[in-house]
Amino acid sequence: MLTRSRSELGIARGGGLSTPVDMVVWHTEDGAPVDASMSVAQEVARVDAIDAWHKSIGWRGFGYNDCVFPSGRVYEGRGDSQGAHVAGHNDSSWGVLWPGDGNRHGLTSQQVAASGDLVRWRIERGHVSEGYRSRGHRDLDASKSCPGTHKYPSVSKLSGLSPGDDGDEGEEIEEARFEMLVYAEGADELSAAAVVAAKREGVFTSDAEQARAEIERGGKVFAVGGPAAETLSGLPSSRKLVGADRVSSLSKALSKL
Ligand SMILES: [Zn+2]
Repeated sequence: MLTRSRSELGIARGGGLSTPVDMVVWHTEDGAPVDASMSVAQEVARVDAIDAWHKSIGWRGFGYNDCVFPSGRVYEGRGDSQGAHVAGHNDSSWGVLWPGDGNRHGLTSQQVAASGDLVRWRIERGHVSEGYRSRGHRDLDASKSCPGTHKYPSVSKLSGLSPGDDGDEGEEIEEARFEMLVYAEGADELSAAAVVAAKREGVFTSDAEQARAEIERGGKVFAVGGPAAETLSGLPSSRKLVGADRVSSLSKALSKL
């Protein structure tokens, strides 16, 4: 299960943790971008950097109990000792880090599958109780967006797991197909230039279903025009609403593709 254990990584143990704990808390951090092509050495370097950062703010070091990268590889943090990841709940929960910026990127399918496997493995080892609650950091601290708008929808998918499951959570998740998608409906004349540019780049749709599905897969969708914005409002994932006055920011984003 573990690509590297706590002791192999040289991470300090926290205080005593009374196990099994009945809650798993999922986190993100907004350091440098991460992706599934990272090597083990790069992932270890990232864990080391977070360890150094947490020491620099006066903690014992790496504050999460475990860490799951987009590759699906799992690194142990403090393991079965007390973490430092969520105020007021460190002595009664298991903190897992998904590195990278959760307001920009969702989880990869490998990452979801590995996160599910990790929970089952921790249950088997007596660290997490069956019937545990799966929570995002933001559920316990309203001042946080952690684990971010794109990763948060996975939190509920990782609830209710038990060692007897078939472990196919990851298969249900499809990757976002577009780096960004422009969904326009009722766009006004001022937005027309952005729509033309999106069509030219092949990232345009007028299909509300496609826009919705893309958001659910963690894609970034720009809604252009009032009706489009209304169709997408209320969806759990983040989206950017582009009114006539914000067409230039959309054009800028398109020019970076
Ligand atoms: Zn957090």
